[in-house]
Amino acid sequence: MHYQISVTDPDSHLLSIIYTIPDIVSNYIEVQLPAWRPGRYEIQNFAKNIQFIEAISRSGQKLLLTKLTKDRWRVETEGESEVQIRYSYYSAVQNAGTSYVDNELWYLNFINFCMYTEGRINDPCIVKLDLPEGFDIACGLSPFWEIVNNIPTVYGGILAAGNFYELVDSPLLASANLQKCEYKAGRISFTVWIQGNLLPDWKRIENDFQRFSEEQIATMREFPESNYHFLNLILPTAYYHGVEHRNSTMIVLGPDDEGEGLYTDLLGVSSHELFHAWNIIRIRPKELLPYDFTKENYFRTCFVAEGCTTYYGDLFLKRAGIFDEEAYIKELQVYMKRHFESSAASTQSLTDSSFDLWLDGYEKGIPNRKVSVYQKGALVSLILDLYIRKKQTISSH
Ligand SMILES: [Zn+2]
Repeated sequence: MHYQISVTDPDSHLLSIIYTIPDIVSNYIEVQLPAWRPGRYEIQNFAKNIQFIEAISRSGQKLLLTKLTKDRWRVETEGESEVQIRYSYYSAVQNAGTSYVDNELWYLNFINFCMYTEGRINDPCIVKLDLPEGFDIACGLSPFWEIVNNIPTVYGGILAAGNFYELVDSPLLASANLQKCEYKAGRISFTVWIQGNLLPDWKRIENDFQRFSEEQIATMREFPESNYHFLNLILPTAYYHGVEHRNSTMIVLGPDDEGEGLYTDLLGVSSHELFHAWNIIRIRPKELLPYDFTKENYFRTCFVAEGCTTYYGDLFLKRAGIFDEEAYIKELQVYMKRHFESSAASTQSLTDSSFDLWLDGYEKGIPNRKVSVYQKGALVSLILDLYIRKKQTISSH
């Protein structure tokens, strides 16, 4: 599977995508754009951002393209072994799960705009980015390479993914102004990338990030990837949003002049997202294996994914010596305040609110109905952890 991505007019915020499907042996194929993205369990209907779409044969003939559902199309292949779907995608929103392009930045979440072909979701994927001169790439995907005249050759602007799941779990930042620092925790290479109007204190970032990364790996015994990327987009406006991925996380924070508050947010969200590399990326509810990108994937245990991760994210910062006792207790108080003030009288259980994420999980909702899988989930994790510790103390005496 091959995706060529270009931006002809950056001011239009339109991505041009050519999706090439080779080795076709059937009279028709069906292509699907995801209806949601992992990390946010609600239908997002990315297809609403497609401005134009057509199907073309290898010889340049237009093929019949029929829409089957809101985000699924059927292409009559007319005996062709290779088909191209050409379409444009409007990319003008900056949060941790969207895509955005302009003159200075390409911020891509492939799940927003890459289609897969039914029956071939496990095929390897290659992405070719027609980037402006001088742009660097920050992404968890490996550069595409092949052996040319017995020499391994890497191509700039071309990335490779083992399958569609890996592709859409690897967001990307590209610009001429990316800043980065690298560190190691054990044998694992970590890179912290920052895009934005900010002069980072890299010494402090390297020191603190290394400590919480080592603390997490020591607790979990091993890390499931050989490298990991923190992708940070720092905005001039107030923002706090992070999304977990296979060997990376996408974080959007702001405002960029907030100083110490911004740094505390960066630590909190980064430790949280790194722990997701185990909890949800590797340790995942069976209802989400594999992801079905066409519809709701109901599960009752999002409070384990988000609550435990919220609880452990801060606990790792305390254990690594980055948060002192006072800072840590303050974080616990924040969960309690938010939980008891907003949902102490809610009628739903944590498991029911997990299930209903797909209904209204990411909006305020009506009074006294749902609870937060993050805040109540973190408090339940605290209670369970204290209970286990108490049992262990009793049994060891
Ligand atoms: Zn999370």
